[in-house]
Amino acid sequence: TPEALLDDLAAKISAGDGQIGAYLSHDLAAAKAEAATVDLSLPLGGIPIAIKDNMNVLGQPCTCGSKFLSENYVSPYDATVIKKLRAAGAIPFGRLNMDEFAMGSSTENSALQVTRNPRDLERVPGGSSGGSAASVAAGSAFAALGSDTGGSIRQPASHCGVVGLKPSYGRVSRYGLVAFASSLDQIGPITNTVEDAAIVLQAIAGYDPLDSTSLDLPVPDYLATLNDGVKGLKLGLPKEYFGEGIDPQVRARVMAAAEKLAAAGAELVEISLPHTEYAVATYYVIAPAEASSNLSRFDGVRYGHRAKDPADLDELYRRSREEGFGPEVKRRIILGTYVLSSGYHDAYYTTAQKVRTLIRRDFETAFQSVDAILSPVAPTAARKLGEFANDPLHEYLSDIFTLSANLAGICGISVPAGTITSDAGTELPVGLQILGPHFEEAKLLRIAKVAE
Ligand code: GLN
Repeated sequence: TPEALLDDLAAKISAGDGQIGAYLSHDLAAAKAEAATVDLSLPLGGIPIAIKDNMNVLGQPCTCGSKFLSENYVSPYDATVIKKLRAAGAIPFGRLNMDEFAMGSSTENSALQVTRNPRDLERVPGGSSGGSAASVAAGSAFAALGSDTGGSIRQPASHCGVVGLKPSYGRVSRYGLVAFASSLDQIGPITNTVEDAAIVLQAIAGYDPLDSTSLDLPVPDYLATLNDGVKGLKLGLPKEYFGEGIDPQVRARVMAAAEKLAAAGAELVEISLPHTEYAVATYYVIAPAEASSNLSRFDGVRYGHRAKDPADLDELYRRSREEGFGPEVKRRIILGTYVLSSGYHDAYYTTAQKVRTLIRRDFETAFQSVDAILSPVAPTAARKLGEFANDPLHEYLSDIFTLSANLAGICGISVPAGTITSDAGTELPVGLQILGPHFEEAKLLRIAKVAE
């Protein structure tokens, strides 16, 4: 029964999550009340699904991993993905830790708690959806929703050894997701298996009049083609994704996964995505620019943290933001405001938009000759907690393989591709990234099913 599933998860959370720190909160009584009325014949009938803490669920907290929203904010509505999960019979259960406002790749930027990688507790789970990946990997969630602006679903999935799917931009409604960078953000599933990812995507995908960027296209039946195999498909290996800076053990695991697909009948072809080297610079102009605008709503007046006893309105704004935001969020706001300011706008923001077009064209050209692209998700396996403290640039550079998909708006998935051995002798998961053309999630899932 759904009640028994909820009890089981709650027991796992109290037994193991103290060590891992994936959950920020959960409300067993509310979930059980919902379970009592759920229609079990629906596709996700009675299945609890855990939610990254940047998606609104009516009556629940939505902290975004920030002090700003952790004191008193309670969601007054359901995000569209939550409405759709409920319509499919699922029960949203539990709020998962994340980098503050989804800015980061390790979940260490959460202002609220540390999340550890269940495969090696000394290491980060990845991020920003670190709580989502860690909960699924630890077995304290059957499936979770994450959000991906530059890799935040795929990279933590890779680091924790689970499946993470970033849908094409416009496939899933962003209504009710707290915006980080609106032209890049997408919600997607983090699950144990590719089949589970297909089932959850089926539930959350589709047009939403409340999100003007969601596309009015029919949603295919993802399970119908899941087992169609890869015979005859052409898979591209971009030479820019296998060069310098990648851990040789990671490269070996990804190549072994590619060989597995070749053995199943796919043809491997070397391709080039020539503007890859500009992806990090382009993303770290566009994402902060959009973030600086989106985060202006946190002003201490409308909701969230409010500074005490300000002398005037200016001080209320200034101190509320100073006290409420953590260092990485401040860094992004300052950077974003700078690249948008008159005098610098053309040099940085406009130039980045032009390079973004070149990156998108790289993929359009590649997809004329291949069905999908194979690559690593990240240059290394999960790093140790604290290893990049005070070195944000190093952290940004490690996003090199995931950012381009968001800049181009295409879909991507991370599938477990075995493990590598750390210096300390622990086995660390490595993910294979599969990138597909716009709205070709069915093909992506089909390939991922063979790779898994
Ligand atoms: N690591 C990237 C960043 O910090 C991507 C984050 C994300 O996808 N939300 O912006």
